[in-house]
Amino acid sequence: MITSMPTAAEIEKAIRNVPDFPKPGIQFKDITPVLADARLFNGTIAELCKPFTAGSVDAVVGIDARGFIFAAAAAVQLKAGFVPIRKKGKLPYSTHEEDYALEYGSATVAVHTDALKPGSRVILIDDLLATGGTAAAAASLVRKLGAEILEFSFLIELSFLNGREKLQGFPIRSVVRY
Ligand code: AMP
Repeated sequence: MITSMPTAAEIEKAIRNVPDFPKPGIQFKDITPVLADARLFNGTIAELCKPFTAGSVDAVVGIDARGFIFAAAAAVQLKAGFVPIRKKGKLPYSTHEEDYALEYGSATVAVHTDALKPGSRVILIDDLLATGGTAAAAASLVRKLGAEILEFSFLIELSFLNGREKLQGFPIRSVVRY
């Protein structure tokens, strides 16, 4: 039974840093120990959707792939729908696509053209904000569908990469910052 919610410091302690994964020089933040602990996972979801009450959000948009885990759980908590933003080539129906720059090269994210109704109120969730390229591309797709972004919510923010600069004009919540 969960009798108390964890602090952000407790959640941070469970995040495992894996050096040089998936390539040399990357400090990968492994969130699986947070997911495996009922109290930490529940507390994380509560933090990610903190300002919102059930019914106040139409959909929670999750970003491929670890964002799906948190966004789907948040959607259930908020009694909202769940909408996936996926890497190019994964969604079966007609899509909008958005390219964005990576450190080396570029990537493309996609959303179904009928995933959100114009005017719907959504929050976007991902596990981690790094340079902000992925989240900014996701925001473009959501706006292309005419939906209103209420907030971005991340478990982890790598503040030294200044991802917030790419998300100007949107409220941003992060539970743990490095
Ligand atoms: P960015 O577009 O640079 O903000 O990168 C954010 C995306 O890349 C998120 O979907 C993260 O899951 C992933 N990511 C970037 N850096 C890391 C990291 N150090 N550890 C774990 N995931 C990361």
